[in-house]
Amino acid sequence: MSDSLIRGLQRFHREAFPGYREHFRELVAAGQRPGTLFIGCSDSRVLPDLLTDSGPGDLFVSRNVGALVPPHDPEVGEHEAAAVIEYAVAVLGVRDVVVCGHSHCGAVRALYEPPGVSAPNLERWLELARPAVMPLADGQLDEDTLRETERRNVALQLERLADYPLVRERVEAGELALHGWHYILEEGRVDALDLESGRLHPEAAD
Ligand SMILES: [Zn+2]
Repeated sequence: MSDSLIRGLQRFHREAFPGYREHFRELVAAGQRPGTLFIGCSDSRVLPDLLTDSGPGDLFVSRNVGALVPPHDPEVGEHEAAAVIEYAVAVLGVRDVVVCGHSHCGAVRALYEPPGVSAPNLERWLELARPAVMPLADGQLDEDTLRETERRNVALQLERLADYPLVRERVEAGELALHGWHYILEEGRVDALDLESGRLHPEAAD
């Protein structure tokens, strides 16, 4: 294991944890009650707690390649991401679910330019984003198309999320809200997807 990880553990235990000790004790005694399920990409540049300025106990997080939501149908096989959704919504009772895509997402690029290695599980997984792919003008892949595909992918995953019966029931009862975000890595900014119009607007303006 890399020395920097070990040194990081030591630094956290020594320097950061004392400041959190009481908070963690309360969270252990009372149990967690996170208000939000955050479904994001595994990309190392997408840090849910950092970009939402959240702390321990705030977010229940599921990260996978592409921030994808698998179909609800349990017959199609085991999906960790589906289990997370059921746990967060049915057991923890979160009030919000965020699906957060991001700029320069390798999963979205791979839909157009497969990585060229043997990765059958990855290929099958990425098919969950395939309907977001757009036709290319002159066969050219450009950054605008990638950004648009990333946003279409978020909308697609939200649609699939709304197909989960337990999600649909709670949304219709006004107990749960679904949100689509597109995080711009290079600007530290989130654009929110308006589910009615399909347009974007800044989620948090200064
Ligand atoms: Zn990504």
